[in-house]
Amino acid sequence: MKHLIPYLQDDQKAADYLRQLRWPHGVTCPRCGSHAVEPRERCDNGLQRFNCVHCAVRLGQQFAMFTDWTSSIFAESKLRPLDWLLVIGLWQLKLNATEIAAAADIQERTAQRCINLLDGGIYETYHLDPTRQLEDQVEADECYQSAGSKGLAREVERHERAPRQRGIQLRGRATAQTGRPPILGLVQRRDKLDQDAPAAQVSLEVLENVRTATIKPIIAAKVKDGTQFFTDAYNIYHFTKVDYDHRTVNHGAGEYARRDPDGTCVHCNTMEGIWSGLRNFLDRFKGISQRFLHLRVARYEFLHNYKHLSWGQTFEATLQCVFSTTGDYLRRMAHQHRRMPLTLCYR
Ligand SMILES: [Zn+2]
Repeated sequence: MKHLIPYLQDDQKAADYLRQLRWPHGVTCPRCGSHAVEPRERCDNGLQRFNCVHCAVRLGQQFAMFTDWTSSIFAESKLRPLDWLLVIGLWQLKLNATEIAAAADIQERTAQRCINLLDGGIYETYHLDPTRQLEDQVEADECYQSAGSKGLAREVERHERAPRQRGIQLRGRATAQTGRPPILGLVQRRDKLDQDAPAAQVSLEVLENVRTATIKPIIAAKVKDGTQFFTDAYNIYHFTKVDYDHRTVNHGAGEYARRDPDGTCVHCNTMEGIWSGLRNFLDRFKGISQRFLHLRVARYEFLHNYKHLSWGQTFEATLQCVFSTTGDYLRRMAHQHRRMPLTLCYR
């Protein structure tokens, strides 16, 4: 947090710092993109107001005002800039709402809204970014996370079904319907010969089920053609041998790692390590709801992929990311009772 101390004095300083991260090349109008903006008086909470000359002319008005936060995910927030700075700093320490509320001295419900906003912003801009692809050597694996309808008790009644079964494993692969949504993990192995290589890049996707039809469009979108692709012998991955150099280890036969004649190490151990990190992280959100599971998983994915950065660099990367979204995803999600279907994201 040392990095933030100079800005943690008052709301104006905090607002100035956040503005410079949102517009590193100078303030532009969020409506028309024009640089012809003039600063006006500040808001009570320290945010700077601006008048866009271009929009004022266009709309035939004397002024066309906007603030530091217009059209950003913070636009409707009542939290002050200083509090936001603190909350974001705590967010990247992988804390849950209770811990953030205590550390930032805000209400727990407010902290909950804040983390949903930040996780949602990261999901929309970082997780769904179509340009972020994995290559070279990629491992794929799936795990199952217990998640219920917590916080939505009526949801259980609406489905006219019994609460999800706990404890006893049902036969067959778990699905979202049975209360254990699968998560597909894809990880690009870190280049060990390159000292400056970033952390092993990972992509994590919460699924309804693990059928080939579900995972095929995701793998096609996230993994470049020609990649070496490592999985266990589970048959849902068989289709990947068309586009990738697909190699399998047979966990069923007790085989966990092997060196092929061409020197390639065939295993899924990188992904196994990431699963244990993810489980540790998700354990902090006791009884996580299916509605928010994919948002928490997106936070873990983001923070894992920026692991090689310093705390301050991660802080700035987070803000640049959430400032590039308008919060559309979260607004649409608010009208859905369940997680948004993946078909909206991948084709
Ligand atoms: Zn404008």
